[in-house]
Amino acid sequence: MDEFEVTPYSVTGKVNYKKLIEQFGLSVVDDELIEKLDFPHKLLVMRYFFVHRDLDKIAEFYKQHGKFAIVSGRGASEHIHLAHTLLFKFVLDVQKKFNAFLFVPISEDEKYFAKQDLKFEEARKYAVENLLDIIAIGLEPKDTEVLIDTLTMNAKVYGLAANIAKRITLSTVKAVYGFSNEMNIGLHFFPAMQSAHILYPTMEYDLPSLVIISVDQDPHMRVVRDVAEKLHVFKPAALESRFLKGLAGEEKMSASDPYSAIYVNDSPGLIKRKVWKAFTGGQPTVEEQRKYGGNPDICPIYEYNAFFFDTLDEAKKRYERCKSGDLLCGECKNELISRLRKFLEEHRKKKEKAKDKLQDFVDLKSVEKYI
Ligand code: SF4
Repeated sequence: MDEFEVTPYSVTGKVNYKKLIEQFGLSVVDDELIEKLDFPHKLLVMRYFFVHRDLDKIAEFYKQHGKFAIVSGRGASEHIHLAHTLLFKFVLDVQKKFNAFLFVPISEDEKYFAKQDLKFEEARKYAVENLLDIIAIGLEPKDTEVLIDTLTMNAKVYGLAANIAKRITLSTVKAVYGFSNEMNIGLHFFPAMQSAHILYPTMEYDLPSLVIISVDQDPHMRVVRDVAEKLHVFKPAALESRFLKGLAGEEKMSASDPYSAIYVNDSPGLIKRKVWKAFTGGQPTVEEQRKYGGNPDICPIYEYNAFFFDTLDEAKKRYERCKSGDLLCGECKNELISRLRKFLEEHRKKKEKAKDKLQDFVDLKSVEKYI
């Protein structure tokens, strides 16, 4: 019953985070580390970003050199949803706080290899579309580089991927990702490209990389850290989030169920329908809710309000009011609907304007067909 599996390509079963931490060999984010970083960001304090690899070493390096690199990309195959906006907003907050160099690789090739029905041109269109979303979230050209794998690849990154490919064996890839012989060779090669993305700032600018990802992407870290050791360069560090719950209360928003997530292109009417239909941690009746209180720990409506919009204090109050029965689910849902509508309306306006900024990040000629 308790079985689960987490890989970069699928998450199944009810995830036991404690077991996952042991399985992957991750370190837990604690108060001491947050203090060391001097970065009490809400998503760290609330442990949305809850595990890491060598983040303490990044903090040390920053103390001595005043800089490091962040690598945080996107495997493009669909519109982005709320979990992606949350991640990129956090990435930009980290970049700003630590004066970091940011590398954003967009891997439509990986998704093309992984998804049977995804067409090549469709993946490329989503790559450009997703980049516009990231620019709308606040990406700035200063100290930033963007790469769209099949549209703006550069010789340095491909050269690095070739160099790395010779250092990763087929048996490693099969063991780490569970790939079988029937799977295409694009997928088998991709870990070399992924590692090249992650090591690019180290090879090019001599900066250690901090990779900011969700925990299902961690197997990539195991491969790239081995490669870094072989190349005698900084082992990349990682800061990893848990999953944002799906609207049906499932562990992770599901890409195959459009009602499981709020996408940036959802209309105001659809947002309302999705939120009203969503699972909550509430009781079946108002009377029972008042008497027994709700359970915010299993409630996606709590998570979306708390992680996206509430201040830390507001989130704490929401949690307590829910538990005590003072708060009703209708109130939470209505609040979330109006907040989401406002947020996504603004996002869409910013995304329109982002088209004029695209040239600051990528060669316009290479991508204009897909805008
Ligand atoms: Fe979730 Fe709000 Fe209902 Fe509590 S009151 S279970 S936080 S929707």
